[in-house]
Amino acid sequence: MISFNVPPKVGTEEQYISEAIQSRKICGDGQFTKKCNAWLEKKTGTAKALLTTSCTHATEMAALLADIQPGDEVIMPSYTFVSTADAFVLRGAKVVFVDIRPDTMNIDENLIEDAITDKTKAIVPVHYAGVSCEMDTIMDIARRHHLLVIEDAAQGVGSTYKGKALGAIGDYGCYSFHETKNFSMGEGGALLIKDKKNVERAEIIREKGTNRSQFFRGQIDKYTWVDAGSSYLPSELNAAYLWAQLENEDVIFNDRMKSWKLYYELLKPLAEKEYIELPVIPHECTHNAHMFYIKAKDLEERTRLLSYLKEKDVNAVFHYIPLHSAPAGKKFGIFIGEDKYTTKESERLLRLPMYYGLKASDIEYIVESIKEFWR
Ligand SMILES: *Cc1c(COP(=O)(O)O)cnc(C)c1O
Repeated sequence: MISFNVPPKVGTEEQYISEAIQSRKICGDGQFTKKCNAWLEKKTGTAKALLTTSCTHATEMAALLADIQPGDEVIMPSYTFVSTADAFVLRGAKVVFVDIRPDTMNIDENLIEDAITDKTKAIVPVHYAGVSCEMDTIMDIARRHHLLVIEDAAQGVGSTYKGKALGAIGDYGCYSFHETKNFSMGEGGALLIKDKKNVERAEIIREKGTNRSQFFRGQIDKYTWVDAGSSYLPSELNAAYLWAQLENEDVIFNDRMKSWKLYYELLKPLAEKEYIELPVIPHECTHNAHMFYIKAKDLEERTRLLSYLKEKDVNAVFHYIPLHSAPAGKKFGIFIGEDKYTTKESERLLRLPMYYGLKASDIEYIVESIKEFWR
């Protein structure tokens, strides 16, 4: 069976985890967490990056920092992972879904303004497959309506829009280092903070509502409870695993990009015959080869293709069930405008195996199997 995902491992993870153990510091914010934070800041140009226990938690932190209150509205696509919505629902917000663009599967920037009311507090663009949303338009809408922009860049580590790192364009950016993402620490993520003035409160929220981060830097002589917060800092053992990956960013990136391009080249003839559609990368965007997907004609054809690939020992998958059609989505959200593409496109999309170390011969076999399906 060709797996859909294999967690990345570059070879130095055990060494770094053992260094963390020997340093007798395995809780959060030790040397490996600091290295990862600094790496992310340098890479993205953001004012501050803080490792978190997940991207879900980074988004929860952003919702707290944005002071989302019960009844506030937050605009996002329905075609996304549950966490994008959950983080705001936990604060009592109403989730307002708008349709996606069929080319990138990202929120349709031209539909956002119609969904804004006097209760709207934030726009949450999701950079699907590590390909950016139309951020200039989104930032302009946010500026004109005094809204915050919180980027769900879970899949976008290493991607850019007009040369800017995803996650560092909006007020807050949320990264994931889950084992299914390009860089991993098992479970984990990061919050990117654009404006320096929000950093202190972010550190407090992340440290159970205490000013312990300032205490550790020697800025105050005792720490205390100063605000509402939670425990969003990951252990050093996880950060050590991630550091091995970040240090080898190029190796992971190049390997994934090689696989992505091979899929694209080999599948092009099928796309030219209009049997399938391939991903679209707008020219403002560079991507990180997070995902390779194809689109079949419809749900029925995708279902047959998925089971054909299963028979061929290829584990392809699909996602997401649009949130507005899920039980919690109906309870906590509302879809504004017409669902022209969200449901239709989500039913056609099929993800092919993609991970660091995927063999070219496996890709050739997968593509050959897809071609056979149409023969
Ligand atoms: C993976 C993912 C998340 C959640 O990441 P975790 O680190 O598992 O919390 C959120 N949003 C999107 C779009 C994702 O792909």
